[in-house]
Amino acid sequence: MTAKIIQTDVLIIGASASGLMCAIEAGKRGRKVIILDHASKAGKKILISGGGRCNFTNYHISAENYISHNPHFCKSALSRFTQWDFIAMLNDYQIPFHERDHSQLFCDNSAKDILNMLLAECEKSKVNIQLNCEINQIRQQEKGGFTIETSRGQFRSQSLVIATGGLSIPRMGATPLGYKIAEQFGHPVWPTSAGLVPFTLQPQDKEKFSELSGIAIDSMVSNERIQFRENILFTHRGLSGPAILQISSYWQAGETISINLLPDLDLIEFLIQRKTTQANVKLKTVLGEILPKRLAITLLGQKSLDKTLQALSHRCIHDIAQQLQHWQIKPNGTEGYRTAEVTCGGIDCNELSSKTLESNKVAGLFFVGEVVDVTGWLGGYNFQWAWSSGWCAGQVV
Ligand SMILES: Cc1cc2nc3c(=O)[nH]c(=O)nc-3n(C[C@H](O)[C@H](O)[C@H](O)COP(=O)(O)OP(=O)(O)OC[C@H]3O[C@@H](n4cnc5c(N)ncnc54)[C@H](O)[C@@H]3O)c2cc1C
Repeated sequence: MTAKIIQTDVLIIGASASGLMCAIEAGKRGRKVIILDHASKAGKKILISGGGRCNFTNYHISAENYISHNPHFCKSALSRFTQWDFIAMLNDYQIPFHERDHSQLFCDNSAKDILNMLLAECEKSKVNIQLNCEINQIRQQEKGGFTIETSRGQFRSQSLVIATGGLSIPRMGATPLGYKIAEQFGHPVWPTSAGLVPFTLQPQDKEKFSELSGIAIDSMVSNERIQFRENILFTHRGLSGPAILQISSYWQAGETISINLLPDLDLIEFLIQRKTTQANVKLKTVLGEILPKRLAITLLGQKSLDKTLQALSHRCIHDIAQQLQHWQIKPNGTEGYRTAEVTCGGIDCNELSSKTLESNKVAGLFFVGEVVDVTGWLGGYNFQWAWSSGWCAGQVV
């Protein structure tokens, strides 16, 4: 008996943000599209994103919000399918959404609204989604096109789109398949690392700061290359919160980061001024006005805090400002892919067309979404990249 062979125009591996968007667009052009995914459900990451409300894009999207070895690469796709185009899709489906800090857009109800919209569009475009499908082998056919051996039989197509995402959250179905396919076809792949991820601390710091677990404070977090102003959060494992997640994507192992816990204040001037007017007041009382008490105790020690302001020398005031506004901390590492929101690195953009996401090396092979070496900041940027890159490939596959 001969095995079943399924012939189609476009095969997409990965039924999530970028793969679904690509399928919708290709289907609209009359292309016969099949999506293969080993997961039991499409769009699992969409459903868990943004705390279940999916931060699906941002009012302000620019190449500066993305990290890549080729910082210009993302510009073309982001300008061809913009945040406004995606918002228009939501409006067509009357999906309610709202804006949060930093122009981030979230669903009012649930991330399900986004996934249901994408699945409805796939249905309109007659896209066939095959779930629980293991990919075993991929071959390029001699006369062009691809053959894919799977647990659901053999598929053949003219175009093949890799939309398998990054390595973050393996329990949600993340695998390195996309990078392996790139390597198989001779595509360079940049080393990957966890991005938008909490820091773990050196053992002595972990012990010291774990009692602050739950404290969140608006801070400026910086390294030599970039700075972010948002909350940091102390956890029982280390440091998290949006400012930490942002800088984690720019962090290199062994690097020290600097944290300003009072970014709006000239602390030296503040303390000198208070010293002249409230000389007999204790430092802990004055700092209690501007910092959580437990944090001040942990960073400065009870002995310093019990001093009155008049007992503080000029040198001592500078030291306090140094501790609180240039707090230097060397993370032990990150929590890794287990909790990371994204994967930095990936398929080298220099071997892809920035307009279509097609491989320069293999005609008909496309890479879209997070598998590509384009990593967005926290704030809806990663989904916008998935929508934009998927849309671009969908115009030509
Ligand atoms: C907890 C969390 C919250 C997030 N929140 C946000 C947010 O609010 N806003 C934002 O912009 N970004 C957010 N992100 C990032 C965003 O989810 C991703 O950047 C985006 O989903 C990438 O889309 P993608 O289609 O490229 O890949 P993915 O969404 O990762 O999809 C890849 C698909 O490929 C399939 N696949 C993988 N390997 C195989 C294989 N071997 N065989 C078959 N199929 C395979 C997977 O099952 C999956 O369906 C969040 C990420 C996480 C983990």
